[in-house]
Amino acid sequence: MKQDLVIIGFGMASHRLLQSLVAAGHNWNITVIGSEPDPAYNRILLSPVLAGEMTSEDLYLSPLDWYRRNGIRLHLGDGVATLERDNRVAVTEQGRRFPYDRVVFATGSRPARPGFEGDNRPGVVGLRNLADTHWLLEQTHTQRHAVVLGGGFLGLEAAEGLRRQGMQVSLVHRGHYLLNRQLDATAGQLLGQTLSKRGLDLYLENGITRVLGKDAIRQVALHDGTLLDADLVVVAAGITPNREVAEYAGLACERGILVDDQLLTSDPAIHALGECCQFGDRTYGLVEPVNQQADVLAGRLCGADTVYEDKAVATRLKISGINVYSCGELDSRHPGIESIVYHDRHSGEYRNLLLEDNRLVGAILYGDTSAGPWLFEHLQQGTDLEPWRAQLAFGEAYCEAA
Ligand SMILES: Cc1cc2nc3c(=O)[nH]c(=O)nc-3n(C[C@H](O)[C@H](O)[C@H](O)COP(=O)(O)OP(=O)(O)OC[C@H]3O[C@@H](n4cnc5c(N)ncnc54)[C@H](O)[C@@H]3O)c2cc1C
Repeated sequence: MKQDLVIIGFGMASHRLLQSLVAAGHNWNITVIGSEPDPAYNRILLSPVLAGEMTSEDLYLSPLDWYRRNGIRLHLGDGVATLERDNRVAVTEQGRRFPYDRVVFATGSRPARPGFEGDNRPGVVGLRNLADTHWLLEQTHTQRHAVVLGGGFLGLEAAEGLRRQGMQVSLVHRGHYLLNRQLDATAGQLLGQTLSKRGLDLYLENGITRVLGKDAIRQVALHDGTLLDADLVVVAAGITPNREVAEYAGLACERGILVDDQLLTSDPAIHALGECCQFGDRTYGLVEPVNQQADVLAGRLCGADTVYEDKAVATRLKISGINVYSCGELDSRHPGIESIVYHDRHSGEYRNLLLEDNRLVGAILYGDTSAGPWLFEHLQQGTDLEPWRAQLAFGEAYCEAA
């Protein structure tokens, strides 16, 4: 008799878990319950859809037939409201009951609420799912002014997408340069200059205090008193893990659902992975660690003895014509960290390579980012780069020649 595995949430983590389970020849009766009406899609590509570079049909991760062929039951558009741990049943909002032997929480996260006056009004939205993206695309036909809060990857991609759709976009960011978690000040300022030249209005070291307008949003007020015209506000200032169903069911939670290196929660019949989970003091916002967790969990659900450990990750911006790549440790002020910097002020090319004991611990590339994956490989391998120090900033070909 096969046992019942119920997966709550049908996003990128669930899809990767299903793929890995199928590849490993699992022996479970699998049901996936998703609150979105669509089967799993590539959430990362919502930004290119907003920018008009792709359509939502391009996003689905597997055709429906794949799930059918692999015996995976889908229950979509009706999320799990409660988990009855005593009876081992997941109960959906519409009252459907799904008995389980093992449960996986893969409920992802949602945009964090920024806490300004009026942040819950209609017209203040996040960019998290297909519904948000379609709504924003619709607004671009009739509305003129957008304000985006947050100068991280998501905020920049949302702002640039709306600008490309013809809106006048103001971007408000509390840091003193863009992408301040992924770049240093020089790269962040180069990026800011490029985006300003494209027509994005930047308001740095600033924030929103309130939205103004009686029936609809008309303006937003910033911390420094500036008033910006706004028909809508996109909030991209952090994410909050969707942990509530687990929390109400009595599982140990802090910011996310707490898991150990087997991706087990405080209940040995319940796992969690992806952006809803917290491992040590870390929560997640990028897909690479989520994929690694899915592979480890699939292994464990098939009897393997694998465990999850955090690894360095690399990130890149998805804005056409602007290349930004960063990985690893990004603070050169840490004692023992040296910095090799290449900066062509004319072309705007910039590279900052951070080394400790001649081993790469971080890299920031702006302009030509083609060396990124090669550098990341050496970072992961801990290669002694002493013989190539002089060529390192010029990439693989120069180092090989040396
Ligand atoms: C616009 C955008 C661009 C991004 N770009 C990048 C990028 O370039 N690189 C990168 O690494 N990462 C990127 N990310 C982040 C990446 O998409 C996430 O890391 C990844 O989707 C996390 O997967 P997940 O399965 O944990 O969460 P999700 O993919 O969010 O899936 C969770 C699913 O669970 C559902 N759910 C929630 N609660 C319930 C419930 N109670 N019952 C049933 N279902 C529920 C949600 O509706 C959702 O469908 C981007 C994210 C966004 C929004």
